[in-house]
Amino acid sequence: MANQMQAAVVERFGQPLVLRSFALPSPGPRQILVRTEACGVCHTDLHAARGDWPAKPALPFIPGHEGIGLVVEVGDGVSAVKKGDRVGVPWLYSACGHCEHCLAAWETVCAKAEFGGYTKNGGFAEYILADPDYVAHIPPGLSATLAAPIICAGVTTYKGIKETGARPGEWIAISGVGGLGHLAIQYAKAMGLKVCAVDIDDGKLAHATRLGAEAVVNANDGDPAAAVKTLTGGGAHGVLITAPSLPAFQQGVGMTRKRGTCVLVGLPPGEFPVPLFGVVADCITIRGSFVGTRSDMAEALAFAADGRVKADIELQPLSAINDVFDRLGRGDVASRVVIDFGAG
Ligand code: NAD
Ligand code: ZN
Ligand code: ZN
Repeated sequence: MANQMQAAVVERFGQPLVLRSFALPSPGPRQILVRTEACGVCHTDLHAARGDWPAKPALPFIPGHEGIGLVVEVGDGVSAVKKGDRVGVPWLYSACGHCEHCLAAWETVCAKAEFGGYTKNGGFAEYILADPDYVAHIPPGLSATLAAPIICAGVTTYKGIKETGARPGEWIAISGVGGLGHLAIQYAKAMGLKVCAVDIDDGKLAHATRLGAEAVVNANDGDPAAAVKTLTGGGAHGVLITAPSLPAFQQGVGMTRKRGTCVLVGLPPGEFPVPLFGVVADCITIRGSFVGTRSDMAEALAFAADGRVKADIELQPLSAINDVFDRLGRGDVASRVVIDFGAG
């Protein structure tokens, strides 16, 4: 095994990432070392590198939370995985396992949770240190490059759709048809929902139609909330907002059917106004949803392993990361870029 690794590092917020060579980390007790095969590039990595959110990561750090690879070393006391297993190192890097939320199987909101590619170094590196109790177990038959987007974009949208409470035959509106949204459409279809896709890019909407969306709305044409209400006969039973854009949030609440649920997943920095009378009088639920638990992860991966959900990926080398970030920032990535480490 090499004793050096390449990684893309955020040294200063808002500046290009820097490719650097590091000594290979070595796993301590209850840690594992993963040799990265592939890592998806999520819009969250862009927020992280810009320092967009109130709780900022400590500099310097290695982003990436869709890293998939093979376990190459295990520290003392590791029994959950063994050398040679294919695992994913997700956003939910670890949690305490003992607080009220962990005990309720809501480890995603544990106050002591660590986040991959944010509070812990992530997958834009040839090797990743990971917590074996929180890695994703990649089913046999699912390649590393296709698994990568599932461990953030997939699990987040699958969980978010469940949180809408929409039932088979009902409508879901999916706002944002990028990395998250193109998988959301496929999960929603596999779960028996009717999909109305919303984006500001006609190319993304054409893709949504190819993926099975029954209706599409360009949010830049007129009033998208009114358009969705007309197309769905009164509003979508569930709304999932993945767009990293504040106007999409108020529009999403306006697309929600009476007694429906609008789930917020996109994380642009800032706030949005809630039209109070409409939300109260229509008994609308607005709720946040944050990635997914380990159990959601196993379910989300099973859809991909069965071929019911397939990420649309563009492979790039790690050296292209700054160009990929620029493109993602201007909406110029078709679905998901996956960094291919050529290792698997
Ligand atoms: P992406 O850039 O791949 O896709 C965003 C899509 O939104 C693009 O297709 C874009 O055209 C579209 N869009 C932009 N403005 C819009 C608008 N006003 N209305 C409708 N669509 C619009 O991004 P992504 O990787 O899918 O991530 C999306 C957001 O989700 C980011 O803010 C990211 O941080 C967040 N995220 C949240 C979680 C969570 O757990 N809650 C997990 C992963 C990502
Ligand atoms: Zn992500
Ligand atoms: Zn906890």
